[in-house]
Amino acid sequence: MDRPEIILAPGPTPIPPEVYLAQGSPLVYHRGPGFGRMLREVTDGLQRLYRTGSDVLIFTSSGTGGLESAIANCFSPGDPVLVPLAGYFAERFAKIARAYGLDVRTVDYEWGQAVKAADVAAALAKAPAKAVLLTQSETSTGVVHDIESIAQAAKDAGAMVVVDAVSSLGAVPFDFDGWGIDVAISGSQKALSASPGLAFAAISEAAWAAQAEATNPRFYFDWTSYKQSYGLKDPESPWTPAISVVQGLQAALRLYYQDGPEAAYARHRLLSRAIKEGIRALGLDLFGEDPERAWTVTAIRAPEGIDADRICATVRADDGIILAPGQGPLKGKVFRIGHLGYYDRLDMIRGLAAVELALDKLGYPVKRGAAVAAAEDVFASAE
Ligand SMILES: *Cc1c(COP(=O)(O)O)cnc(C)c1O
Repeated sequence: MDRPEIILAPGPTPIPPEVYLAQGSPLVYHRGPGFGRMLREVTDGLQRLYRTGSDVLIFTSSGTGGLESAIANCFSPGDPVLVPLAGYFAERFAKIARAYGLDVRTVDYEWGQAVKAADVAAALAKAPAKAVLLTQSETSTGVVHDIESIAQAAKDAGAMVVVDAVSSLGAVPFDFDGWGIDVAISGSQKALSASPGLAFAAISEAAWAAQAEATNPRFYFDWTSYKQSYGLKDPESPWTPAISVVQGLQAALRLYYQDGPEAAYARHRLLSRAIKEGIRALGLDLFGEDPERAWTVTAIRAPEGIDADRICATVRADDGIILAPGQGPLKGKVFRIGHLGYYDRLDMIRGLAAVELALDKLGYPVKRGAAVAAAEDVFASAE
């Protein structure tokens, strides 16, 4: 029987019916009062999520386009930037910076380690940088880095702070103004559970000042064009936006704000605990430092002798559930369960049950129902 596959990977995440309906509705023409109102509402919702009074701009692109916009707008060739490298997405940020000719210095960690503010402070004391490029939720390892303390170290050294918050905004707390962040990027297809296709950037006054001086080439992502179009009586996007996805995002944000950010954080934390206790009950090891902070994705070491990619392939073939494989050096060693976005507790139980069945099939000794029982214990104790 052909049924849609169930996504239990960290993005894109499952889309609620309200969002599908909104994005399948007639297009709201992108120049005029209808779109203007929608853009205002969506922008306000995102500002609340970022906790900022600063500008938030929305681009039609994947999250990576938002990251590229930050590099293109804030820097000039040769500008020194510091990138703490502890996973796949931090490496992507460094690659974008190199592609634009920035002078990229790194603080190198083993994948799965948490970036330490003291290491960033020490690196900046040795060689000052114009900015530190950070990743809040390192989706490849599950680690949620402590942006507040790292940003403080960067500010103390006079560096700007640019954050990839693509897989964290909406799932874990973020405080753009309170933490003194200069640029933070996110996207539509992770915690907010809208379709892929939109990236957002929150931009501080200091980042705008840097933008005015920066000479990197830019056109499609030139923040100035967006700011001008947002300033019109009916705000609009300079180029034709993915209108349907904006409609979907509006519906997704309305759903999100029915319960609000605090409830969303609590839900992510609870679902994450249930997955982790379930996995531990099977005798498997979690991967990555500070797993109790990893509210968006759980990285799990495959048992000795079983390829992690085979676990993902078996779960998908047998039960139509998509888990995420390990990336880079973790390929074959780690698999990941995403729990950011529009999920409830039975989604977690279903995923754990599928993992139990797959491990059993692959020859790992499973006590049937152990993971499910441990997850239910977590839910019961939370009530
Ligand atoms: C998903 C993700 C991105 C963006 O990926 P796109 O495929 O370009 O949307 C960037 N950073 C992190 C940490 C992510 O999880």
